[in-house]
Amino acid sequence: MIKFRHSFSSGKKIPSFQLLCLVYLIFLTIVTSHQEAENVYQKRDYYTLSNTDIKTLVELDPPQWDSVTDGHLGKLLIPRASGSENNTLVQNYISSVFTNLGWHEEKTPFRGTTPIGEIDFTNLIYTYDPDAPRKIILAAHFDSKWFPDFPANQFIGATDSAAPVAMILHLAEFLTPLLNNRKERILSGLGILKNDFDEEEIAETTIQIVLFDGEEAFKDWTATDSIYGARHLAELWSKTYLKSTHPLNKNKKRKFEPEPTILNTIDHLILLDLLGNKHSMIYSYFRETDWLHSKLIKIDQNLKNQNLIEIEKDENEWFSKIKLRGGIGDDHLPFLHRGVSILHIISNPFPSVWHTLGDDSTILSLPALRRWNRILRIFTCEYLGLTPNLIISTTTTTTNRLQSKKTIDELVSLKKIILTDLYDIILFGWTDDSNLRIVDDNK
Ligand SMILES: [Zn+2]
Repeated sequence: MIKFRHSFSSGKKIPSFQLLCLVYLIFLTIVTSHQEAENVYQKRDYYTLSNTDIKTLVELDPPQWDSVTDGHLGKLLIPRASGSENNTLVQNYISSVFTNLGWHEEKTPFRGTTPIGEIDFTNLIYTYDPDAPRKIILAAHFDSKWFPDFPANQFIGATDSAAPVAMILHLAEFLTPLLNNRKERILSGLGILKNDFDEEEIAETTIQIVLFDGEEAFKDWTATDSIYGARHLAELWSKTYLKSTHPLNKNKKRKFEPEPTILNTIDHLILLDLLGNKHSMIYSYFRETDWLHSKLIKIDQNLKNQNLIEIEKDENEWFSKIKLRGGIGDDHLPFLHRGVSILHIISNPFPSVWHTLGDDSTILSLPALRRWNRILRIFTCEYLGLTPNLIISTTTTTTNRLQSKKTIDELVSLKKIILTDLYDIILFGWTDDSNLRIVDDNK
């Protein structure tokens, strides 16, 4: 692993032409190998929407909100600490949204020991197609941080994480008709493979929403006072074995391989946190999802190029191409530690109002929320091969397609790659954002 260092000091001579050529060549090699490195970790097809399709998807926006408190967000912007009545109200609201959409609901209630006593927690899990053998997960936490005294106990947590939850609810509403239509089309035998794009792989992948309870620490963030819901769920899933008819079991090559669990069915877990204010800076933290982070950059750039998002003053760039390794403590950790592939979409540095009463509706930005909604919409449509016309256009092309067809048993090899990243974590530990390491990819 190489750390970036300043290699030119002010006292140096001007480099010769030959030297400049050499530096340029090295730069090209680094850029090329970087791109190749991302492709190595891409384990599935990724459909790229045409500009026309992207424009159509953006025009399918829900009625324009006049205020950040319109829509789902208005229902979530209340203090909702784990174990409180408001927490239950929010759970019920979220449940009603997904029930209306017809998604499968699973709740995992449990009692946890916290520094302030026993607390009841409930994770909420919604799956479009519970029978699908593999899935992509979008996740956020719906609890807000508990403070004992007034006025601190009125902490709302607008960016932390009411806004990310609202984005996910809007996304699910948006995707449902497209998913319904694709399901009908595939069931009727129309087009499994279109235009060199592997719809079979796509058809066996569903989307799951996981909304964690108990992300926040009740006192100080420690291994035991934080991410209660995520720790519970990762542990539960690591012990929930798949049916013998599941493709992962059928594809098992050796008798003594570990029994696959629910965790093995997760292609990627994408965690959103601390979003919705004007400023965001999103880094990539994990080698195996650098390619997904690059997709986000491309989508944002494309939306900008087509004038489909409103860029606020001084907010041009939301995504950094610099890779940060080490990561930030959050709900993904118990899954990462068990080999799940993670994309962590979190603002770094944290919003200036983090864990203060200022993290309320006034910090949220309508243009930023719309921008996130559109980015997530395009991203999930491309990941899941969904198009606005519901039939994949014959004129669009697939980019970044791998030469060979990828199947579900490759999830197992993906898991091995992730464990390599874990080596870094064991060596350097989990840190907050003040202690992140900048490294290059070319190990
Ligand atoms: Zn928080």
